[in-house]
Amino acid sequence: MLDLSTETPEIKMKFTPEEIDHLSDEFESASPQEILQWAVDTFCSNMALSSSFQTHSIPLLHMVKQIHPEMRILFLETGYHFWDTLMFREQLEQLWGLNIVDLRRDLSWNTFLQRFGKDLPETNPTLCCYIRKVQPMQIATAGLDAWITGIRRDQTDQRASAKILEIKRDGLIRVAPMLNWRRAEIDAYINHYNLPKHPLPVEQYPSVGCKPCTRAVQPGEDDRAGRWAGKGKTECGLHTDLFDKKTLSSDDFQLNIGY
Ligand code: SF4
Repeated sequence: MLDLSTETPEIKMKFTPEEIDHLSDEFESASPQEILQWAVDTFCSNMALSSSFQTHSIPLLHMVKQIHPEMRILFLETGYHFWDTLMFREQLEQLWGLNIVDLRRDLSWNTFLQRFGKDLPETNPTLCCYIRKVQPMQIATAGLDAWITGIRRDQTDQRASAKILEIKRDGLIRVAPMLNWRRAEIDAYINHYNLPKHPLPVEQYPSVGCKPCTRAVQPGEDDRAGRWAGKGKTECGLHTDLFDKKTLSSDDFQLNIGY
């Protein structure tokens, strides 16, 4: 298993936790563009943005294009995406010249996945997400000062209590410029700038993840009701405690969640 404990120590104390809390509170009244500009000015090139390339991801990508077009944009290539998502990613990369980096799972899981991987999204989606999303993001952000994400408080209960700035594993600062925007503001921004939209109809697919774990929503359902439906899961783990855990193996998941 990979050892993720080798991040560069000099990033650890760029800000104290108290300073981050104070700044985060101040940013509650700032616009996403102001928060993004602060991150660019503060962390220069030692940061990256993650994007799932859904329709609601587009305003933040558009802001990045205006403010810091060279920004690294991390895309989790899980191998399970809708074809439409991969085409949309390609379209935006060409259209806006985005600096996209595809993240894939670590090869050390090969033997395990050959044996158990076929049905893993169904039998143990937490472990599947760890292998294909959480660990690749842990590795990609190790050594960075900041990680920018497009999460919003109106998406899940977990995200409702998130902060605009949070110190994560080993000093990594997670920046969430869109946290206070709601779906209506996202839609208004997209319409104002006439931005491209994911090919899947947003009324049926307001939240698009991997194909085995995404279904269309019914009228009146929550935007994320189609994600891991019936599996008792609402988050992939990027924005839960799982992200801060290191060097997990399949045994940890057997022990903890009864795989
Ligand atoms: S969303 Fe589903 S298919 Fe994608 S990584 Fe998670 S469990 Fe696996």
